[in-house]
Amino acid sequence: MKLLAIDDNQDNLLTLSALLKAFLPEAQLITSQSAQDGIRRAGMEAPDAILLDIQMPGMDGFEAARRLKGSAATQHIPIILVTAHRSDSACRVQGLECGADAFLSKPFDEAELVAQIRAMVRIKRSEDALRQERDSLEALVQRRTAQLSQANVELKENLERLAQSEARYSRAVRGTSDGLWDWDLVSNDYYYSPRWKELLGYADDELENRPETFFTRLHPDDLAPAQDSLCAHFLGQSPFDLELRLRTRGGEYLRVRCRGQAEWDDAGDPLRMSGVITDVTERQLMEEQLRQAQKMEAIGQLAGGVAHDFNNVLTVIAGYANILKMDLPADSANYGLADQIAAAAERAAQLTRGLLAFSRKQAIAPQRCDLGEIVLRVEQFLGRVIGEDIQLRTEILPEPLPVQVDLAQIEQVLINLAANARDAMPGGGVFTIATGLRDGNGRGYGDPAGPHAVIIVADSGEGMDDETSRRIFEPFFTTKEVGKGTGLGMAIVYGIVQQHKGNIKVSSKPGEGTVFTIEIPLVEGGAALQSVLAPQPSPRNGTETILVAEDDPNVRSLVDMVLTRHGYQVILAQDGEEVIHRFAAQQEGIELVLMDIIMPRKNGIEAYAEIKKIQPEAKVLFTSGYTADFIQSRGMEEGVELIMKPVQPMELLRRVREVLER
Ligand code: ADP
Ligand code: MG
Repeated sequence: MKLLAIDDNQDNLLTLSALLKAFLPEAQLITSQSAQDGIRRAGMEAPDAILLDIQMPGMDGFEAARRLKGSAATQHIPIILVTAHRSDSACRVQGLECGADAFLSKPFDEAELVAQIRAMVRIKRSEDALRQERDSLEALVQRRTAQLSQANVELKENLERLAQSEARYSRAVRGTSDGLWDWDLVSNDYYYSPRWKELLGYADDELENRPETFFTRLHPDDLAPAQDSLCAHFLGQSPFDLELRLRTRGGEYLRVRCRGQAEWDDAGDPLRMSGVITDVTERQLMEEQLRQAQKMEAIGQLAGGVAHDFNNVLTVIAGYANILKMDLPADSANYGLADQIAAAAERAAQLTRGLLAFSRKQAIAPQRCDLGEIVLRVEQFLGRVIGEDIQLRTEILPEPLPVQVDLAQIEQVLINLAANARDAMPGGGVFTIATGLRDGNGRGYGDPAGPHAVIIVADSGEGMDDETSRRIFEPFFTTKEVGKGTGLGMAIVYGIVQQHKGNIKVSSKPGEGTVFTIEIPLVEGGAALQSVLAPQPSPRNGTETILVAEDDPNVRSLVDMVLTRHGYQVILAQDGEEVIHRFAAQQEGIELVLMDIIMPRKNGIEAYAEIKKIQPEAKVLFTSGYTADFIQSRGMEEGVELIMKPVQPMELLRRVREVLER
């Protein structure tokens, strides 16, 4: 043990030293003769106890005690104040107030001295030990606190990451149109995502998360296949992926593709399975549309194939019937017969045109005109189609709706719709045609972009059920009795609208009438609109020389006769080679070449190229019974003049004049 004695009196210090040597030999004594020096040494030597004299010059013992106790380095060292008298209680009180721990009085009683010092040192040691323990405890606590707060930070980060990933996951789940399910096979806990339930028409809290929710909603015919497929998957034999029907809230069955993947334990037993259901209605709808388009394509090809020859035949029948009519007095019996032939041929030609229109293979002669004017034009003769019991209403938008359309075909659309409306209103009703405008923005799912002119055609007739609505555009679909319906009307409408890059929708309910909405792209800017309301002038006669190239002898002589009768000089050629020769031989006099496109030896297009070499300014008007896309695939450039067969004499004369006068 180390002791520090502070006393200004050298003798006192010596006495103490002697006493300690005798009675407390293990003590090592350090001495100091002034308070200041004593305090300094106490800080340096860290004694186990300090014996402090009170009466000292300069700083006394009380002040020294206060300072020692006030300094962090020395505050734990026990101070034994040495008083002059044992009974000096005022002095003891002051000593205690200054922080003294014990008292001794001079002269020292050696037993008391030793006991007091021992006690103080013992107390100090145990206090030191306590303090140390406390300090190390504190350090430990601090360390642990630091560790904990670090762990806390990490935990927070983890939680944040988890929340982010959770948010990402739920966004993805929400974003997908698939419904999710998860099945714990051990606890038999089931989970269905809100979307899963939504697909069946339920809110999240309306269906229980139990296996039965799925199995009881399965279509009875799908239960066994689903179970078989599940078992096979659990045995690891095959993926779980099949199409099922699930009963919705409305009691209908929703077609879904159901896919899932199990997890197995080490023994090969399935533990868990999760997967998705996907609504395949839309895909099936698209497949159906594709099938429909393919069906139309196939029938269209058939129709297109027949059209050429059929048109030649019709041209001849109608042509000669019309010539007969011209030759006969209008009141003769034969005039009536010829008229019947011409009318029948026209009906047949219309049927051909219908088939071509439906197959979208009819040549279209588009012109820029106002859709409103077309409706007004059709209105003039629509009354005859719908009859007197049906009221016809038109609502035309005041501003013009510029569209690029084939007038005759749009007329055909409106006539077909009117004919169906008439059939749907045997007891009379209202038939409405309205025009409108859809800007590029307000479009529904699947609508084409950009501004469209709209025609709305509505009737107050018997309407139709969903099944009929779905099928009306199918060629040859009719609900009318044999002989009344052909099932071609709506197919033609469909084909024409498609060919004009438009679309058509139907909305109908049994007993509530029918509304058709047709949209056709608007054409912006450009040339002025062609008026379709002005009456067509009857063609003038001419004296020009026309070179006619046509391989069909009947058509050739018909054209010859029509043109000759109207004053033209006609030169005939039978094929592509001949037309070139004749043109070369007589080029100066020939003002127009009227030429079939499909001819033996050289076709019209090749012949045209040769003729242009001879005379670049040569005027050519083509005739063809072939369809527009066929002609284009043969390299026909755009913008050349084309007249479709069967050619009507009046139409032919009008077009011939038109080209000649250009
Ligand atoms: P068709 O008139 O020769 O039967 P369409 O192709 O014109 O052939 O029409 C097909 C079917 O569509 C009709 O038989 C009819 O069932 C239905 N349909 C068409 N338009 C209407 C309408 N406005 N109202 C009710 N049913 C219609
Ligand atoms: Mg019809």
